[in-house]
Amino acid sequence: MPPIRTGFFPGSFDPITNGHADILAASLALCDQVVVGIGTHPGKVPLFSFEERVALIEMLAATIEGGAGRVSTIAFDGLTIDAARQAGAGILIRGLRDGTDLDYEMQLSGMNGAMAPDIRTIFVPASPATRPITATLVRQIAKLGGDVTPFVPDFVARKLTQKFAS
Ligand code: ADP
Repeated sequence: MPPIRTGFFPGSFDPITNGHADILAASLALCDQVVVGIGTHPGKVPLFSFEERVALIEMLAATIEGGAGRVSTIAFDGLTIDAARQAGAGILIRGLRDGTDLDYEMQLSGMNGAMAPDIRTIFVPASPATRPITATLVRQIAKLGGDVTPFVPDFVARKLTQKFAS
């Protein structure tokens, strides 16, 4: 049997957006299984708790064709490469939106590669439709009462509405 190809997709996912969904779908086309690493930085208070972010990612995975049963989630607060290794992943997936992402991600992948040559970084280009989306702007728009349905799955939009109503 060929080895199982495991991808590690790290980020904050606060909350998951259509941009993340696009990269996750591409990752599932490249890997047999994908572990989504949810960064839980000490000192940074997220809008959504770790458990809420996991639930939203699981809902999203179920909507991606062939995604059910192939996506899992873990929390991490240390080095990404350590978390990738713990997840048994040989592939580190990063989405690229623009040249700023590229410059930073090239540095990151170079240094990650020096620390962990066995873990290869794969860059996935954003799709034109989801390229401008950032979780930060989604949170801001929702907080100000704007419509975020073009940017996130419907179940995320509902959660955001509930969050800011309470
Ligand atoms: P980070 O704080 O590391 O950027 P995010 O949760 O914002 O964490 O993003 C996680 C990953 O998803 C990163 O690789 C990022 O480039 C990618 N990503 C986020 N939004 C988009 C998007 N709209 N299109 C493509 N990739 C995206």
